[in-house]
Amino acid sequence: MSSVGVFYVAEFLAANNELPFDPPLTSLAALGVLDDGIPQLNRRATDGRVSAVNGVAVTTINPATGRSHLMYVSENLADMLGFRPDQLLGRSPHELFADRTPMAQLDAAAAVVERGEQAILSLDLRHANGRDVSVEATFLALPAPNGGWPCFLALYRDNSSWPKPEQLLADQSAMLDSLARGHDVVDVLRQVSGRIQDQVPGASCWVGLVDGVGLIEPVLVGRHSEDLVDDVLQELTQSGQTSTPSCSRVDDLPLELGLALRAEDIASLWVYPIVGADRRSQGVLIISVADRTEPHPSEHQMFEHLSRVAAVAVERSRAEASLAHQTLHDSLTQLPNRALIVDRLEQAVARLGRDNNRLAVLLVDLDRFKALNDTRGPDVGDEVLIEVSRRLRRSVRLGDTVGRIGGDQFLVLCVAMNGELDASSMAERIVESVSEPLVLTNEKLSVSASVGVVLVNQPGQSPASIISSAESALASAVDAGRGGFALYEEGLQQRVLIRHDVEQALQVALTEDELVLHFQPLVEMSSGRMIGAEALIRWNRPGHGLMPPNSFIEIAEETGLIVPVGAWVIDETCRQLANWPVGPDGNGPVITVNLSARQLAESSLVSTVLAAMERHDVPPERLGFEVTESMRVEEVETAIVTLKRLAALGCKLAIDDFGVGYASLDYLRRFSMADTLKIDRSFVSGLGESREDTAIVSSSIALAKSLEMSVVAEGVETSDQYHDLAAMGCDYAQGYLLSRPVPLDQVLELWERSTLIKL
Ligand code: C2E
Ligand code: CA
Ligand code: CA
Repeated sequence: MSSVGVFYVAEFLAANNELPFDPPLTSLAALGVLDDGIPQLNRRATDGRVSAVNGVAVTTINPATGRSHLMYVSENLADMLGFRPDQLLGRSPHELFADRTPMAQLDAAAAVVERGEQAILSLDLRHANGRDVSVEATFLALPAPNGGWPCFLALYRDNSSWPKPEQLLADQSAMLDSLARGHDVVDVLRQVSGRIQDQVPGASCWVGLVDGVGLIEPVLVGRHSEDLVDDVLQELTQSGQTSTPSCSRVDDLPLELGLALRAEDIASLWVYPIVGADRRSQGVLIISVADRTEPHPSEHQMFEHLSRVAAVAVERSRAEASLAHQTLHDSLTQLPNRALIVDRLEQAVARLGRDNNRLAVLLVDLDRFKALNDTRGPDVGDEVLIEVSRRLRRSVRLGDTVGRIGGDQFLVLCVAMNGELDASSMAERIVESVSEPLVLTNEKLSVSASVGVVLVNQPGQSPASIISSAESALASAVDAGRGGFALYEEGLQQRVLIRHDVEQALQVALTEDELVLHFQPLVEMSSGRMIGAEALIRWNRPGHGLMPPNSFIEIAEETGLIVPVGAWVIDETCRQLANWPVGPDGNGPVITVNLSARQLAESSLVSTVLAAMERHDVPPERLGFEVTESMRVEEVETAIVTLKRLAALGCKLAIDDFGVGYASLDYLRRFSMADTLKIDRSFVSGLGESREDTAIVSSSIALAKSLEMSVVAEGVETSDQYHDLAAMGCDYAQGYLLSRPVPLDQVLELWERSTLIKL
């Protein structure tokens, strides 16, 4: 403050005891007296806001008595209080204040002013009509001119143009309303910061929110850069300034940050924590201002209100987010659930066209999980699922997604795949990581997974069709023996559809009498006479004609329908056998029935056979069974048990398709309950042409003889083959040369004729 100016004003005030005009603040400033206190108020005044300074008073104190009296009251101040200025002059400034003005605050303000600083207070002044006028008062000392009485300058702003608490509450409820209507939390925060920016011209309001790992991340940055706000948030967090309201002068911040803020014309940061109901910090509101160090009390009040609004908004949205998390995540593994992963899949597919990358979709299915759950209990099952989901997450790369889409099924989305090789190695990785032994709370166990893989390279495919492709690939992986993966191939889908279709129709076929048996004669080679027949199934499927077994037996085996279908074959064979006349030589025929491994796995097979024989009164030696040699190793054990029981009944047993599967002596020894070996027709067809085939046929015959088994050659089509086989010592023949499989009436004719081939 220039001493000339002080002297001038003091003299002026002392001499006139009254200012000749209502001095606009700018002219006071022009006097050079008020250049410390006035500028910011002045700048407010030039904002054109109604809440600019509304009144000025100058008080002087008699040092002898300590009494103060008003030596100047501006006209608008007097007006605001319902007086004329001259009615107030000479009075004690305390007479301006409402009765309930806290004197302690005034004393504190006086102490501040005496130290040469300005004090800002919210006060109520008394209107002539007795009502209170709420103002914001700024007091400054006018240093005493030499020998003169000290003077105070008081600047009053009408506070009524500031939002009142009721107004703030109304705003708050408007914001909460928009919150309740599901507006995004950022929308509400935007309203909060917009309001602050409206009320504090030139200020910029930022919002930072605590993220998942406890860091405060910028959410709203006003007109400033996110990096700058981020730096500020980090600095405030480190210096522990985010838990209570605080004011920071930019100059007090670390140099570099301070300079960066200065460059953006920011002088102070007012920090208001956003505190949740649990008293935990949810984030901060930061008001950056260019021209002041502290908010005035009513502003402070407003910021506190608004930070509470923000807190409610943030808490509400966090609660919703966790609700959304719950509805979109599996509660056991915390993985995205089906709904979410399907959505992610859709998005990933939509993004596909943009680069050359492909998306690999892997459907992971735990092998025999149901059995594990049943035997070890659901707690163990849960533990397994949790651990497997961890492993899956660890197996994939950043940006890939793992979701749980069913009980023991997971879907893995791998973006940016190059091709089949990439996808295969990912599938391999998953299969391997799942098969590592699991160490659970109470036990150690091992599980395995089968994986179906689909590569998607174009947008447009629906998630449902991709998942169904993955399902069919998975089915191939399971068929191939589990614990591995299979890639989806085109056409597989078609097969899956057909399979499904056949399965449905076959169930109907069983009840609607659509199945029929054809019979292919079995001829004794030495005599050329028919000694029996093989029963071969056909399906008279409406709209499809007579279907050969290879179009449906495999599907029946996979679906388990072979069990009732096989039971029908057994019963139907016995029914026909009962009506079959004895042959010219007085012997009845032997009819053989084909059995699938799946049927042999059912312990009910023996009782099914017994029941059929009893029902139709068929002696066991009339009935034979053919069991294919190409059986899976793990199926062999149960099959052996069942076959022994069938043999014990007195039925004949043949090893079918011999030479195709695991032809080994050991195997033959284990099937020692069989009395017949049927040489597969693929070797018979090569007789005379392929030396290898000829060798296999002749050695098979020799082998059978050494095991005291009789030998049947299948697929005999030519008389050359017939003669060769006879020469090799083969006992029986079957094949088109003798007869195709034919319906019952025709096979009965052949049976009557008895001799089917003349040697
Ligand atoms: P399979 O047991 O090897 O039956 C012999 C198949 O060879 C029959 O085909 C028969 O028509 C065919 N065949 C017979 N002689 C010749 C020949 O000289 N040349 C050629 N090229 N083929 C000949 P089909 O009837 O189509 O049966 C195919 C397979 O279906 C059977 O092979 C058998 O594994 C299975 N199958 C048939 N009926 C049943 C059944 O009731 N239950 C089960 N589980 N499987 C059955
Ligand atoms: Ca057969
Ligand atoms: Ca065969």
